[in-house]
Amino acid sequence: MGNTGAVLPLGPAHALLPLLLASVLSGCALGAADPQTRPSENPRTAGASASTPGTPGTVPPTTEAPRPLEGRTVALDPGHNGGNAGSAEITRQVDDGRGGTKHCNTTGTATNSDYAEHAFNWEVALEVREQLEKQGASVVLSRDDDEGVGPCVDERGAFADDADLLVSIHANGTEDTSAQGFHVIVPEPLDDEVAATDLAADSADLGEVLVAAFEDADLSPNPAYGEDGLVARSDIAGLNHASVPAAMVECGEMRNVEDAARMESPEGRSVYASAISAGIEEYLIGD
Ligand code: ZN
Repeated sequence: MGNTGAVLPLGPAHALLPLLLASVLSGCALGAADPQTRPSENPRTAGASASTPGTPGTVPPTTEAPRPLEGRTVALDPGHNGGNAGSAEITRQVDDGRGGTKHCNTTGTATNSDYAEHAFNWEVALEVREQLEKQGASVVLSRDDDEGVGPCVDERGAFADDADLLVSIHANGTEDTSAQGFHVIVPEPLDDEVAATDLAADSADLGEVLVAAFEDADLSPNPAYGEDGLVARSDIAGLNHASVPAAMVECGEMRNVEDAARMESPEGRSVYASAISAGIEEYLIGD
């Protein structure tokens, strides 16, 4: 069902790619902080260690890190859930957002050493939340923990109605263990007319900046999903139900030895989380 050839919504966004890339590369390199818009890596430590003017009896003026995402709300959807396996609930049919139905949810995939995708998605989402909150954003998650069932895919888009954007976090699983790398999925518009809407264009733009942020973090796109790892699909119910710009990130391939090693390590998960955060920040406040 991968309508990888559906490039209609991506045409205008692709035209912007050089601009976006230039913008991302100049402003989003990890560690290459722009003091105007980026907080230091550890604002608390930075603030505490700053020399304080000696004004007895008063609290010194704070040198707080900038909070460029103040007032913005980000919806994160960590895919699947820890209780899905063995639950009959997830086979219930729900509205797929395109006139059909599909299963409420699925169990997700796992690495060859049984590190489950739902756990990976959850841990990355928590780290993305932490990074975005440090920059002032409000973050809402589609689920409360990694032990429940669901929510169903139709709710995984609708819960984000009050947010500025939605990013669904996943990892892919294919039988081809040589398959490697990330890809990003955006909702395929229903037709040419819808493709011209702001929402469709904005989702395509969100996908573009996420791809750029992953590449900026030295992560490679899976060539099975086009040259740049960005595809438009109509069968992702969570994206179909979103009323805000939305994209799904498939961080890597869990059955691939190299990708799995990165996913299973806290350091590796931080690479994914930082890339997602950087992409979101670029989308929200990049020029
Ligand atoms: Zn998944």
